[in-house]
Amino acid sequence: MIKEEFSEIKQLLSNPKRIVIVAHKNPDGDAIGASLGLYHYLKQYQHEVTVILPNDYPDFLKWVPGENHILKYETNVSPSNTLIEQAELLFTLDFNTLHRAGNMEAVLAKTKAIKVLIDHHQKPDNYANYTYSDVTMSSTCEMVYHFIKQLDGIDTIDANMATALYLGIMTDTGSFRFQSTTSTTHRVIADLIDKGANNTNIHNSVYDNNSYSRLQLLGKALSNLKLFTEYNTAYISLSQEELNTFNFKKGDTEGIVNYALSVKNIRFAAIFIEHKQEGIIKISFRSKGTFDVNQFARNNFNGGGHINAAGGKSDLDLNSTIEKFVNTLPHYEPKLNS
Ligand code: 5GP
Ligand code: MN
Repeated sequence: MIKEEFSEIKQLLSNPKRIVIVAHKNPDGDAIGASLGLYHYLKQYQHEVTVILPNDYPDFLKWVPGENHILKYETNVSPSNTLIEQAELLFTLDFNTLHRAGNMEAVLAKTKAIKVLIDHHQKPDNYANYTYSDVTMSSTCEMVYHFIKQLDGIDTIDANMATALYLGIMTDTGSFRFQSTTSTTHRVIADLIDKGANNTNIHNSVYDNNSYSRLQLLGKALSNLKLFTEYNTAYISLSQEELNTFNFKKGDTEGIVNYALSVKNIRFAAIFIEHKQEGIIKISFRSKGTFDVNQFARNNFNGGGHINAAGGKSDLDLNSTIEKFVNTLPHYEPKLNS
């Protein structure tokens, strides 16, 4: 985004406004961190601010300062619609196309609010008045930091904002290890610690909150791991029955795909998770190096994301979905082996 646009947004924010912040369906640490980081920033200036997220999120994200003020669209449709329709300014965070906002899509498309998109996913749609898109960024939280820095300098960042932004950078970078992590990411993180983010507590809150049954589910997932060494590929599957056996709760499968990617020499990994109620298989793809899972997910499984992390879905049953996946591998053989 060019300097003039930052100035225009600063101008828009120079007097109190009705503002709504939204992020994508099945919100993750980055979606929640970016929303709440921006929320606390805007609240400093007497704006009327509401964060509305399409649906619920895992317990390990339910401790972030301000989280108790988040409105969940699926259980608050009518008040949320009113807020979105009457908003003067709408921030859409951590997604690139309105349908990623689930059932909020229609009202978001309709509202007359001035829209500001902040996102690091590939190929953002052209729906916003201001599009701050940077696919080289580790996370939307890192972008919100730069956004606030541009508007106001970092001295406006307080401990609540720092905590929220730290969370999303941490979760979207796999704790600062993915390729998207740059020296700038680390400088931003250093600033956030200086501003009051308690790094140890944040890591503990997210990663050391396992239930016994979640670890048993992980054990099941690991025993379902399959390797295709000729394609440097691995996958994991979990059926609805297996999820039920281990008392599955939202978030329990988060990160499991990374175990498939952690196998020596594996560059491409997937996890297939059966959702009987919705009648779909949800898929997460991860890669190392140049294999583009965003493109793979777009081409084969109606999804998208980033080069090294993407998602998709399938209407076929679990076995047929996996069969389809396995059958596509030969087409990608040169890329998977280069
Ligand atoms: P995850 O596998 O953790 O659900 O998602 C990995 C990345 O891909 C995230 O950045 C997420 O926003 C994106 N993603 C997941 N599912 C979809 C999808 O169905 N469509 C698109 N466009 N992106 C997705
Ligand atoms: Mn993100």
